[in-house]
Amino acid sequence: MKELLRKLPSVDEILKESRIKQLLETFPRVLVLDAVRTVLDRTRNAILQAQTSPNLNEQNLSLPVILSQAEAVLKDLAEPSLQRVINATGVIVHTNLGRSVLSETAIKRVAEAAAGYSNLEYDLAAGERGKRHVHVEGILKRLTGVEAATAVNNNAAAVLLCLNTIARGKEVIVSRGELVEIGGSFRVPDVMERSGAILREVGTTNKTHLKDYEKAINERTGLLLKVHTSNYKIVGFTKEVEPDELVKLGRKNNLPVMWDLGSGGFLDLSTYGAGSEPTVQQAVDSGVDVLTFSGDKLLGGPQAGMILGRKTWLDPIRSNPLARALRIDKLTLAALDATLAQYLDKEKATRDIPTLWMLTQPLAEIERKAELLSSGIRSLQGTSLSVTIQEDTSQSGGGALPTGNFPTRTVCIRHDRMSANKIESALRLNKPHIIARIKEGMVVFDPRTLNDGEIGKIVEAMEIIVTTDKTKL
Ligand SMILES: *Cc1c(COP(=O)(O)O)cnc(C)c1O
Repeated sequence: MKELLRKLPSVDEILKESRIKQLLETFPRVLVLDAVRTVLDRTRNAILQAQTSPNLNEQNLSLPVILSQAEAVLKDLAEPSLQRVINATGVIVHTNLGRSVLSETAIKRVAEAAAGYSNLEYDLAAGERGKRHVHVEGILKRLTGVEAATAVNNNAAAVLLCLNTIARGKEVIVSRGELVEIGGSFRVPDVMERSGAILREVGTTNKTHLKDYEKAINERTGLLLKVHTSNYKIVGFTKEVEPDELVKLGRKNNLPVMWDLGSGGFLDLSTYGAGSEPTVQQAVDSGVDVLTFSGDKLLGGPQAGMILGRKTWLDPIRSNPLARALRIDKLTLAALDATLAQYLDKEKATRDIPTLWMLTQPLAEIERKAELLSSGIRSLQGTSLSVTIQEDTSQSGGGALPTGNFPTRTVCIRHDRMSANKIESALRLNKPHIIARIKEGMVVFDPRTLNDGEIGKIVEAMEIIVTTDKTKL
């Protein structure tokens, strides 16, 4: 062992090599050093655990081998941090994996907006400065009949901006059952505090009545707020106040009513197993003064926060100085504008917007993809894999449809010698990266979120994994 460790070249020796000198001309010195040190550390560790690394020998301690490895590490280090991944989890609006995949139309519009100048804030008819929000306002008015609309960075920003504009220094009445936390960093009480509004909780966790709101109204009240509980559902002995009842109460007391709808889908997906969730249209029709929802959850567009409502509230919301800090950028706007326009033909939208297609695709299509994947993996020669197709359910994710229950067929694999954890991590570190789930000691792929090309990539990755089923240096 000592012998091998002594044979290992030093950092200085390696840096004198012409191959490395060449790299130093292209890459920052810190990066090259980082790569060299990574390889040396790795090799040193392998030597120290030599018993478990049977293919460790003098050959792979030689300078050329170490140089090649350093080059490979450097290539990895120089790669962009944001990487494409294949989502085999079946979770459609997967927040950690970037939520919605954009439609082809939206992608094209983003590329166009990125490649040239646009009328982002320029009124072409008048030949003068225009407003950024018009690009989504027109289509949202046409889709829902709402009076006014705008879009900001995300729904958290939308909620913050609305609360700050409408209720800074005033009390906002919210049901205790709706003080939710979404994804760890969005908590209604915290956002409320930062907005400068004062939280006034009413009711209990499971039951809140209209009279609870009524009793809490006083001269300091600035807003009645309803929040979609998104990622959970209170079941059993429950009571919540419907938005239209809140609207009536608001009118009677001359108070605005706001609804944070969370996901905000335009289509009724209850026939697909989504549970009964209010659509954006129903929310607009409830008569609330301001409505907010995300652009990249069920809408299937880019990250954005939609604000719809009465012009008397949208005007001050849009001119709030915070609106500038929270504004949407042009590439996002291009994607959003294009995605919203696709909803003019709802049937086509269901086919062309990936999030909607993944939610509504027929079970037969999922079965076809499950067959394709399982037969691909089964065809790998001489492997010790067992492959089964099982009945399961997919989740919509993104706190979109908490009670959603979407029947699916998963491809489950087991290997004689390799653990599910090991296969899962090998898939994750593969290029392209493949994200699968583990269940009951099996690696599980849900084809709901996969296309045929990605299924091919998974088979290729499995082939590499099963053929290199040996401890490598
Ligand atoms: C998801 C969600 C948010 C946060 O939206 P982002 O677009 O992620 O900022 C806020 N409120 C509710 C009810 C949500 O479901």
